[in-house]
Amino acid sequence: MSSQEGIPAERKLSLADRLGLLQFDVDAQPFITVDTNTCRSCEKKPCLYVCPASVYRLENSELVYNTEGCMEMGVCQIVCHSIGKAAIKWNYPRGGKGVTFKFG
Ligand code: SF4
Repeated sequence: MSSQEGIPAERKLSLADRLGLLQFDVDAQPFITVDTNTCRSCEKKPCLYVCPASVYRLENSELVYNTEGCMEMGVCQIVCHSIGKAAIKWNYPRGGKGVTFKFG
């Protein structure tokens, strides 16, 4: 069942609206680290395509990342380790830090 079932079309939230509801308490201690030297030899760079928060991007053909919008799905690590070059080390932010989801 859709979380927006029964809601009139004019009141349904777009993906951008939903993402705007997320709140973050940024952890100053990095909870994701990437060996970007290893990324240079990664042909597929799947991390660029799986993250809805666009944590990973290319700048001048180099992989860069910014964890501030991370929704803590962990899918970047899964694809990096399964079809990338295993450059990502991923953990949850320290207790109380990171994303807060708002349901309803
Ligand atoms: S998938 Fe992993 S190794 Fe490949 S570019 Fe992304 S972070 Fe680097």
